[in-house]
Amino acid sequence: MTYESRLFINGAYVAGQGPTLPSHEPATGKLLAQVASADRGQIDAAVTTAHAAFAKWSQTTPKERSRALLRIADAIEAQSHSLADVESINAGKPWRYVQAGELANVADVFRFFGTAVRNVPGTAANGYRSSRHTSMMRRDPLGVIASIAPWNYPLLMAAWKIAPAIAAGNTVVIKPSENTPLSLLLLASILAEFLPPGVVNVICGDGPEVGQTLITHPLVRMISLTGDVRTGRAVLKAAAGESIKRTHLELGGKAPVIVCADADVDVLVETLREASFYNAGQDCTAACRIFVDKSIAQEVTDKLAGMIGQLVYGAPERNDVEFGPLITAAQRDRVAGFVERARADGADIVAGGQTPDGEGYYYQPTLVAAPISSEIVQKEVFGPVLTITAFDEAATALEWANASDYGLASSVWSRDSVQAMNIANALQYGVTWVNTHGVFATEMPHGGMKNSGYGSDLSMQSLLDYTQVRHIMVAS
Ligand code: NAD
Repeated sequence: MTYESRLFINGAYVAGQGPTLPSHEPATGKLLAQVASADRGQIDAAVTTAHAAFAKWSQTTPKERSRALLRIADAIEAQSHSLADVESINAGKPWRYVQAGELANVADVFRFFGTAVRNVPGTAANGYRSSRHTSMMRRDPLGVIASIAPWNYPLLMAAWKIAPAIAAGNTVVIKPSENTPLSLLLLASILAEFLPPGVVNVICGDGPEVGQTLITHPLVRMISLTGDVRTGRAVLKAAAGESIKRTHLELGGKAPVIVCADADVDVLVETLREASFYNAGQDCTAACRIFVDKSIAQEVTDKLAGMIGQLVYGAPERNDVEFGPLITAAQRDRVAGFVERARADGADIVAGGQTPDGEGYYYQPTLVAAPISSEIVQKEVFGPVLTITAFDEAATALEWANASDYGLASSVWSRDSVQAMNIANALQYGVTWVNTHGVFATEMPHGGMKNSGYGSDLSMQSLLDYTQVRHIMVAS
């Protein structure tokens, strides 16, 4: 199979002129494609063309933009098999989950923003200084958005960035992760059918060179990143350079799962089967650290170990697997390193904890019983690893959860709705689930607090994030 590996600038595929980066299949380690990066001239060309396209695109009506987004959604659904083929092989994701789940979500995101843009809330015009001074608020697009995407959900994260930005009337230059550029390069051909040239451009390359050159370009008005906290800092520095740029940061997470004594343990364990291990745990909202009331700690540990023992992982094309390999050998070794240091520190490796033999970047699903102070309970592991820590009182679990530098996702498990609400309300996290975990709604905002960043993906809130609110006053 051959993969599209050229950049997409001004409505056409062009060969990259910069250094070539290999793109691999994580399930085997085999080379899929050599992807030539954009050189400085091509990065400038992509931004300049997006800037030129903004002049017309920003003047289209919500109805016209809506029509384009709705057609894109239909085309993504129609081509979900070929998109899933590329996403699955390049990101190591089970094909059936990508095709039926992630691509359905990608289409839904374009459809949602195609609808939302016709319903942007406004404020009624009014006279505040005198009845002859009529004030009104407008929401206008910003200009060129530089979008930087991660490798864990290459198409879905691209959709979260592209759809609200173009729905609002902006134009985009997006850089996929150097690990997973292939599916977005294919999606570009679908976007090209329904969008004028230059509205969405895709450039490839690494972060420090290509990403950095893109985000510091003077014509970029906003930088939208999903990635690591360290990269978030680089974005903030770039945004305060010669030109001041708006930023939108979706960074890492370390989701606490607070399990009270009256929780339904069977529902918890069945939910964590997916919420902790989907995508091999490479998910910023993954339920990765359980704080459990000590009275049920043994029961929860035993049932989790039983569930983990049944988890099926393996080659993404198989129909029975629940997760595939990690993205790279380096990521797999990083995950193994966390577990080895925990083991050396005296933590109890209740299940898993080994790198299996054979090809591909797999790691066993793992459960570690460890104290709150351990590195593995505090730092983002980003792999199929769950920790469990017992508490004496729910107030202690809340304190542990809020002591984290991260603030993205969390969940509370209790049959007592008053207790659950009190804990949920006090958690300093962008999303809190009660008696479930990891369930998304396109209509609801997704974003973090603290080092997990700020700004919302999904929902009307995200569309507003990609606009500038303005005051127009007319004297009569
Ligand atoms: P990463 O930060 O290493 O890379 C993300 C992107 O940033 C890549 O495209 C990379 O090339 C680029 N980049 C790196 N340095 C850059 C620089 N100096 N300037 C411009 N671009 C640069 O992250 P990753 O390893 O690809 O993804 C994993 C991280 O993403 C995890 O921390 C995870 O929690 C986070 N994430 C967060 C969310 C969320 O919604 N909050 C969603 C998915 C992933």
